[in-house]
Amino acid sequence: MKFSELGLKPEIQNALADMGYQDLTPIQEKTFSLILSGRDLLARAETGSGKTAACGIPLVQMIDPLSNGIQALILVPTRELALQYVDEIDRISRLTDVVPFAIFGGFSMEIQRAKLRDQVHLLVATPGRLIDFLYHTKSIDLSFVRTLVLDEADEMLKMGFIEDIEWIMSCMIHEHQTLFFAATMPEPINRLIRTYLKDPVRVELNTEQVAPQSLAHHFQYTGRRDRLKVLIEYLKREEISQAIIFCNSRHYGEKLIRSLEGEFHSIGYIHGGLEQSRRTSLFERFRRNEITIMVATDLASRGLDFSHVSHVINYDYPYGQESYTHRTGRTGRMGRPGIAMTFVTDQELGVLKSLLKMNRIDPVWHGNIPNLPSASKSNGRRNGKNCLRKQSQRISRKQFPSSNSEASNAHLSRSL
Ligand code: ADP
Ligand code: MG
Repeated sequence: MKFSELGLKPEIQNALADMGYQDLTPIQEKTFSLILSGRDLLARAETGSGKTAACGIPLVQMIDPLSNGIQALILVPTRELALQYVDEIDRISRLTDVVPFAIFGGFSMEIQRAKLRDQVHLLVATPGRLIDFLYHTKSIDLSFVRTLVLDEADEMLKMGFIEDIEWIMSCMIHEHQTLFFAATMPEPINRLIRTYLKDPVRVELNTEQVAPQSLAHHFQYTGRRDRLKVLIEYLKREEISQAIIFCNSRHYGEKLIRSLEGEFHSIGYIHGGLEQSRRTSLFERFRRNEITIMVATDLASRGLDFSHVSHVINYDYPYGQESYTHRTGRTGRMGRPGIAMTFVTDQELGVLKSLLKMNRIDPVWHGNIPNLPSASKSNGRRNGKNCLRKQSQRISRKQFPSSNSEASNAHLSRSL
């Protein structure tokens, strides 16, 4: 289906044409009229399938620019995602009088407040910063909001924002529409849905296949000691347009960047410890393809859209299957080919086996192919799996405590 068939305002249609958007992606096609009809919605689709515009286009269409007040509120888990989201809305609404704006931590509240005093129709916000505004300054009025959106709802819950989100949702007692967008639907989301959504329509695309099909899953079985050497050889051998290399902590990332800097020139390192301005500038340079290799902690795995990324490399094996999906979803977007390369050591063979099975991944092995343990096999292996799971729980609890303010969000991302 084409955007020209939707009866969109001409300003939106022209903007979409300028952006090179002609055909709706499947999730956009399935959700467009539901959103316009005012229904509550639960939309689940693979990463890189165009969920931002699926929501952004009908929102811009519905907003009445002559009416004052915030008419659409979009909650996103991170600052970078807030910027990216508002950027997409900016492009969609460029020729209309709709005013989008984003608030997030790490940026002056005073400046944000000044802007909020002017006209803002569509507000993108991280939960912590929004609560700071609602609670401490009372300078945001949500009573005109007609549509509330949770983007990356799964990530938000995983990051411990559930209480924040419930608090925000409970503030909005007037009649409104609620839309959830996510790539995965873990159980806690269902409770929120039962409490806050009215008879939601579920749109689930490719639920068996949360990862894009254009993504090839490569694996390299290696010992910890050889890993760096193997990585360097891999990076030199492969035809890489851009790569993100994920590490599990800031400390590991620092070690890795020190080892790679001597070998590769166009390389950067992004993590949660950087100042906001530095983080934004690194993201922007990477997006403009001025940096080829980006070492990153999981900070960079959430929802961000980098269209040139040909390779996502899990140098450290990701904690949890959802993390694998989010990291590797940074490539293979919108049907473009991408390679996810994951380094696997003996320790991870148990979890790898279930990852392959659950996600129906057909692995491409480089080097030796390990023997994956059979499910009922030795305790030792099962212990290994449990140990990794426990470790992951411990980390997620430490990294993602429930937070009620931007201050605790800062704590939250300390190890990312
Ligand atoms: P998701 O939120 O599902 O992970 P995004 O909303 O970030 O995906 O979109 C991924 C990419 O696809 C973005 O670069 C976006 O500009 C592009 N895109 C979205 N919709 C369309 C479309 N209809 N036609 C062409 N490109 C699109
Ligand atoms: Mg998204």
